[in-house]
Order: sequence, then C-alpha cells, then structure tokens
Amino acid sequence: MTVRTDTDSPALDRLRTLIRQNGPISVADYMAFCLGDRTHGYYPTRDPLGASGDFITAPEVSQMFGELVGTWLRALWASWNVSGPLRLVELGPGRGTLMQDVVRVLARDGDRFAELSVHLVETSPVLRQNQKDALADAIARGLSVRWHDSLDDVPDGPVQFIGNEFFDALPVRQFVFGASGWAERVIGLDGDSLAFGLRPAGLDHTAAPPGLPPPVPGDILEISPAREALAQDVGRRIAASGGAGLFFDYGSAPWGYGDTLQAVQRHAYVDVLAEPGEADLTTHVDFSALARAFARGGTTCPPVLTQADFLLAMGLLERAGQLGHGADAATQDMIRDAVERLAGPAQMGHVFKAICVTDREPGPYPFDGKTVRKSDGQPSG
Ligand code: SAH
Repeated sequence: MTVRTDTDSPALDRLRTLIRQNGPISVADYMAFCLGDRTHGYYPTRDPLGASGDFITAPEVSQMFGELVGTWLRALWASWNVSGPLRLVELGPGRGTLMQDVVRVLARDGDRFAELSVHLVETSPVLRQNQKDALADAIARGLSVRWHDSLDDVPDGPVQFIGNEFFDALPVRQFVFGASGWAERVIGLDGDSLAFGLRPAGLDHTAAPPGLPPPVPGDILEISPAREALAQDVGRRIAASGGAGLFFDYGSAPWGYGDTLQAVQRHAYVDVLAEPGEADLTTHVDFSALARAFARGGTTCPPVLTQADFLLAMGLLERAGQLGHGADAATQDMIRDAVERLAGPAQMGHVFKAICVTDREPGPYPFDGKTVRKSDGQPSG
C-alpha cells in the first residue's frame, strides 16, 4: 500500500532520508520515531488528550476512574500492612489526571500521605508541564513528585506501579507468515511515498510462537520487545522489593494472530502511514505476553479482569450514586454517561482489561479469584 501526502512534513522528510540512507525500517522503528522523536514525534510535541485532541482516556472521562484506583491502592496498603515510605510510580501519566484523582483519595490517610512519594515516568515535556499543573495543589501540600525519562532512573525499593494506556504506545514488530516462513513487515519508499514491504525474518519457521497455534500463510504476528523488557523490569522490581502493579489497556488474553496497528487523529481512524508524527499510533496489548514478561521478572499475575469487572468490583455504581446524589439532572446524565463509557460492554468496559502484577498469592481484591464478574454474573478466574 502506498500513501501519497499532499504536503510534505518535516517528519516525512526525515523518514525519507533515514530510509534512503539505511533501507526500510521495522514497524517498531516507525512507531518509535512517530511517537517519540524529540523534534517530530507525536507525544513530545503536543497534548493529544481530551475532546479537542485526538483521543480520550478513562481518567479523562471521569474522576471516578482515578478514585477507584486510589481506593484499590489504599485497600492494598491496609491489607498488606505496608509500613515505611510509600513509593508510587506511574508509567505514561498523560495530563496527570489519574494521579491527581488517586492522590486525592490517598490524602485521606494523613500520616501515610506524608510518607508518599510519586514518580512519574514521562518522556514528553508538554505532558510533564500538564502533570505539574494537575498536581500543583498536592505538591503545595508537601507531596514529593519526581519526573523520570525512563524506569531505569527510578530508584529501587518497594514500589506500586500504575499505568493507563501506556503499554499500547510502545513499539511492536510485525511478522507475516508466507510460503517460505516468517517475513518482517517493514516501511520503505515507493517513489517519495511511504509504503509497506517485507524482508526475511530470522524467526524459527517451524515452532509456533509462545501461546499461539502453528501459523498458516497470511497470519500476522505482533511482538513487542520494548513492552516486554519494560514489563520484565517492573516484575523484577516487585519481586526484589515487594509491591504491586495495576495496568489498564485495550487488548486481550489469550492472544491471536492479526494486525492491530492503528492510527487515530481527532477521534477517528486514519491511515497508519499518512501523517507520521501527527496521529497516535497504538496496537492492542497481548496480555498473555505481558503476563509472561512480568513473570520472567519473578512475579505472578492473577487472571486478567475486564475494566468493567474491576471498576464494578471497586464500587463504580456506588460512587456514581454518591456523586449524583442531590445533583441537577444534567450532572446526573453526565455521570450516567461516564459510567457507560467506562464500564459499558460496547464502550471501554470489555475491550479494556486490568492486569495486576504481584509477588503474593492470592492476588489482592478483586484479583483474588473469588470476584464475581458483575458484568455477566459469572465467577472470574
Ligand atoms: N495515562 C494517560 C496517558 C495515556 S497516553 C491517560 O490515561 O490519559 C500515553 C502516555 O505515555 C503519554 O503520557 C506519553 O507521553 C507516554 N509515553 C509514551 N511512550 C513513552 C515512553 N517510551 N516512556 C515514557 N512515557 C511514554
């Protein structure tokens, strides 16, 4: 497929130069450039979130999302009888809205709050500023907040991780199965335009990839070395010093073959190659591979829950009732709409999953295997 652009952007010029110098680039290198390049990349150059941006995330839909994550953390710390300083790390904090809502809940425990330090792993200078603004009140009240370019810079020690729509932004490689085995999908040039192509891949031709059936011609395999390396480090830290992680993303477990790479601009799908650096590029997250990567670090993952199951188990409907109590009709409508967006099966409720990483068994509520799936009335696990 070839994409012609009417106006050539500096990002496209740079990609052309790179490809002419070094040859076609992998889908992973294309994603890393489009999303993360300091000069041309999508995240470092803008705030893409919200109604006027390109896409909206659960914390931006309603304060209830972050409040219920805060409630989960509070319960975890109470039930695990955690003592000493509390270190909370968020990966890819966006506008800082999730952390703002979490911190508001944690501030109810005055003494514990004084021991809390927050570490935000964020590469975008624009979003860092938004996070600073969102947390200004908490910082003024004495909360320690530090920013890091990567998880490598976060000090070791007992830690809790949270993240929403972070793993989906990390680069994936794609492979296509054909008559002579696997070939890697790459992006090269057709004239002056970007175009997909294939190059031989060094993948084992006979073995099925972990967790998948033997491939048939036409199958597409996505793997994310970057995502897995990061997840393994999260697992290693939790296994070494204690703690837990809670991550939300769209994706599934078990996983299958297929091309899930997508580009979104102004709340609509656009061509992946059309405007490099100007659209959000994501893939669905393979939660089985993510769980295996956490496990390689030494931790376990209880069965993944849907976002709906997690939020309903944490009291979404009760919180919505409290917020709506005595409110005018327009506010009540807004709250009802937010509940539907966050937990409705046709909206974020089922396609988004919640995964918990922990060094203890059973996992913490509602990942303890006893939770009733409120969204369909079946026990989970
Ligand atoms: N969690 C937020 C934002 C999701 S968008 C929300 O739910 O609203 C993805 C976030 O991850 C952005 O903050 C983006 O700047 C950040 N990000 C993307 N790639 C990253 C990387 N490699 N390292 C650190 N942060 C990254």
